[in-house]
Order: sequence, then structure tokens, then C-alpha cells
Amino acid sequence: MYDVVIIGGGVTGCAAAAELAKYQLRVCLVEKESDVCEGTSKANSAIVHAGFDAEPDTLKAKLNVRGNDMIANLSKKLDFAFKNNGAMVLCFDEAQLPELELLKEKGWKNGVPGLEILTGEQAREKEPRLSPDVKYALYAPTSGIVCPFEMTLAFAENAFENGVEFRLDTMVTGIEKSAEGYIVRTDKGELETKAVFNCAGVYADKINDMAGGRHFGITPRKGEYMLMDKDAGGTVSHTIFQLPTKMGKGVLVTPTVHGNLLVGPTAENIDDKENTATTATGLAEVKAKSALSVEGLPFNKVITSFTGLRAVGDTHDFIIEESLPCFFNAAGIESPGLTSAPAIAEMLRELLSAKMNLSPKKDHKDTRKGVVHFAELTHEEQNALIREQPAYGSIVCRCETITEGEILDALNRPLGATTLDGVKRRTRAGMGRCQAGFCSPKTILLLSEKLGCSIGDIRKNGRKAVQEDA
Ligand SMILES: Cc1cc2nc3c(=O)[nH]c(=O)nc-3n(C[C@H](O)[C@H](O)[C@H](O)COP(=O)(O)OP(=O)(O)OC[C@H]3O[C@@H](n4cnc5c(N)ncnc54)[C@H](O)[C@@H]3O)c2cc1C
Repeated sequence: MYDVVIIGGGVTGCAAAAELAKYQLRVCLVEKESDVCEGTSKANSAIVHAGFDAEPDTLKAKLNVRGNDMIANLSKKLDFAFKNNGAMVLCFDEAQLPELELLKEKGWKNGVPGLEILTGEQAREKEPRLSPDVKYALYAPTSGIVCPFEMTLAFAENAFENGVEFRLDTMVTGIEKSAEGYIVRTDKGELETKAVFNCAGVYADKINDMAGGRHFGITPRKGEYMLMDKDAGGTVSHTIFQLPTKMGKGVLVTPTVHGNLLVGPTAENIDDKENTATTATGLAEVKAKSALSVEGLPFNKVITSFTGLRAVGDTHDFIIEESLPCFFNAAGIESPGLTSAPAIAEMLRELLSAKMNLSPKKDHKDTRKGVVHFAELTHEEQNALIREQPAYGSIVCRCETITEGEILDALNRPLGATTLDGVKRRTRAGMGRCQAGFCSPKTILLLSEKLGCSIGDIRKNGRKAVQEDA
């Protein structure tokens, strides 16, 4: 019997797992894919939002600002990439100034520090490539950028090291009330638990319906992006937004923590919870809108495009509640869900503590070390590492300078990678200009040796069961 079963291994579920792992609880996280961070948490803008956009007095506003406050410290403790680069929201017309002032006012009500309205000239002093058409900008110094894969993996590995069980490749198919709590049915058998956390992203409505909670709907809202080569990463140093619309925060231009340039996303409501295809129309919209903000964006440097699906709840706020006795929803976690994840985890733990005695674990480890990035070491450190482990002397991904040692680390560490994308998200092998063209054969070989299977059985990503059934 588990104390808590967490459904979903995105950033919400993994942050909740890391939070619960601080207490003497038997916790299991169930994820239908072969790895954590396979849903929306892998495809977003990666902004640690300041918190001026959310409506005051909503959960989004409260948890955004709290999450923003927590992430810098967490990035040090759990070793994931984060940078406080600041953001600007642009307006191109004198008539839009009141909208910027309203955003500043909302930010002030939400408790966001340091907001300031700049003139176009002042904004261009900070960010020289901004369009000459920019009339004013709201400057938000507490906005940042993070690596969403590293952050999710950091929570997951920390939870794992503190005793949380992870059942990957395991899909929840039904939930039934039992005398002591719930029976969670999966395609790999049943789990008995006293409590359930529903962190299933765009499927959180389906999971809630399985348990019979008060009904709500989740609409997937598609967001398409283009990612540019590191050559283009210095085009801007801040995250550049345009004024938000009722569909979201609009098309942004931002550096990533690893030095690429990201432009997007679109915002289109769709029916299909699996439709992450990019489209010519969507990417053309991203190109046209982003070009309004920043001059001379180098679209010839695009190395890949991708789509993320926002889980838009029909209450338009995060749905974080005890929907049935000891059945807790963390649903409708659209943007700023990445920023809010550690604060959502705290809130879920507080809701649980009203129902269950939570005693702190004495031997809890609150730090975790990520994969050592060889290219970031000094020559002396690199030489020492190669002497100790010769695999660090062999470069596998030439675009990102990722060594065999790093890939072996990704395979052998807690919750090690079992797919090509799993290796990519832990090490960045395959994230560079050639998008895994050169490093895949060697990575596949290392994966097959580690997993004891043929190279033909190595998957890029996705559910094992689905592929075997196909
Ligand atoms: C275009 C876009 C831009 C965004 N930009 C930002 C941003 O800049 N900053 C920010 O703070 N937020 C941003 N967000 C929001 C943020 O990405 C999400 O709020 C966050 O990733 C949601 O995480 P999650 O864990 O709730 O969902 P997910 O990451 O989707 O995880 C849910 C998991 O549940 C699993 N699951 C589903 N059904 C089942 C089942 N039956 N059995 C087992 N497992 C199941 C899925 O496989 C998945 O892994 C953006 C989102 C999008 C789409």
C-alpha cells in the first residue's frame, strides 16, 4: 500500500515527488512514457516568469511569484541551468501604453518587484537589436530562463534518490475507490494507495473523470516554435515579449540557458491531445510576429522546430484541489506551470498534510548533482577526468562537445536514460546544429550495450508497449 501515487512525470509530478520525498511516506510516480519530461514539460518557452501577467488573486499569480522566488536557490541545490536575464514586454503604439501600465499594476498587485516602464530609447539601450518601432517597454528584472529538461530531471532524480518509486512505461487506465483510499489500475497491474495526486497534464481531465471527481475539461492549446543555432544566441540577452492577448503571452524572442535563440509560440486551440506537429502556417506566423520585435532575426540559423501543448483548464486558473477525499488534482497547469512547479508541489503537500500525518525524513538529501558537462571544465579538470575515466576523452556529439563519459553517466545514473531522447535531455548530445545526425549511431550502440538489447530495439522516445504492439 502506497501513501501517495502521483500520476504524471512532468515537471508538476516530479516536483511533487521531490517535495513528498522529504517526508516518511511511501510514494510512487506513474508515467505512461519511457521517461519523465515527455509531455508539455519538454516543449515550452522555458521562461521563469516574473508574474505580472496572471490576474491578481488567482493561483497562477500566487504560485508564479512564489515559484520565481524559489527557482534560483533550487537550481543551485539540484544542479540545473538557470539564468536571471530579465524580460521586456514591448508596445509599438502610443495608444498601447495604458495596457503596459495595466500589466505593471497587475504585477505590483501580484508582488512582482522592480517593474519599470522604459521608453523605446531606454529599452534599446539595454537591448540594441529591438525594433525602432518599439515605443515603450515594461522591464521585469526578476524574469529568468531555465532548462526545462534539467529542472524536471533534477526533481525526479532527487525524488528517486530519496526513495520515491518510479513506474515508467505504465499507463493509468482506471481509478476506483477502496476502503483505505484508491486502487489505481494500470496497464501493468494495480496499485493500492491512500492518496492520489493527478498531475497528468493535458490528460488530467480524463484522470479526474476516472476517479469521478467534479468534472472539468482540458483543451490542448498548441504552441509552435523555431530554435536557432548558438551562432544566433547573442541576438538578444533579455526575454522579449509583446503585449499579451487573451490566448496567452504572445510570440517571444529569447536566448536559452544553453546559448541558442528561441522564437515562438503560436496559440491555437485543438482537439487532439497528441497533436504536436509543426505546420508551415504556424511557423510563418512565428517568423512574422517575432520579426516585429527584433531586427534582423537570422532565420537561416533555425536548427529545429517543435510544438508544445498547453493544458488549458475551463476555469482558466490552475485547478489545485482535493476533488474527492484524498484525491488531489494539479490540473490546468498551463503557463506559468514550469515557473510555478515547486510552489504547486508545496501547495499539494500542504493539502495532503491536512489529511495525513507528515513526519520529516531524517536522512533526506536536499542536493543532487547533474551530469558533469565536460566542455564546461577547465583543461586541468578535463585532463584529470580523462585520466580517471578515459571515456571522457572521446567526443560523441561534436556540435555540443559531449563525450562518451557523459553519455555513460546519463545511462548509469539514478533513473538512467533508456531512449535516444533520454540521453539527449540529460546530456545535450543531439541538441546541436546537426540535430543528432552524427552522434545517434554511437549513442544507440551505447544504449544497446547498457540495456542488453539489439540496436534495432532502441527507441528515440515514446512508450515501449505502444511500439511493441505496433
Ligand atoms: C507553448 C508553451 C509555452 C510555455 N511556456 C512556459 C514558460 O515559458 N514558462 C512557464 O512557466 N511555463 C510555460 N509553459 C507551461 C509549462 O510548460 C507547463 O505548465 C508544464 O510543463 C506542465 O507540466 P505538467 O507536469 O503539469 O504536465 P506534463 O509535462 O504534460 O506532464 C504530464 C505527464 O502525465 C503523463 N500522463 C498523462 N496521462 C497519463 C496516464 N494515463 N498514465 C500515466 N501517465 C500519464 C504524461 O505522459 C506526461 O508526462 C508553456 C507551455 C506551453 C505548451
